[in-house]
Amino acid sequence: MKWLLVIAVVAAVVWMLTRGRESGHARRPRRPEVMVECAHCGVHLPAADAVLGGDRVYCSEAHRLAGPRRKGSG
Ligand SMILES: [Zn+2]
Repeated sequence: MKWLLVIAVVAAVVWMLTRGRESGHARRPRRPEVMVECAHCGVHLPAADAVLGGDRVYCSEAHRLAGPRRKGSG
């Protein structure tokens, strides 16, 4: 009667495999959002919303035109 157990195990494995293939509704992998810092005012914002200016990033077009804030005094 040992073969009955083998058949039962194989059937269970096959059932699990075929059952798993039905789930085509996979969740999207969560992307870590890249945050950048405005070179002018220092606010943090998602890279997708940033305005590129040369090798720096800004939070808005106005700050891109204003340019990077000078470091040092202040
Ligand atoms: Zn800014």
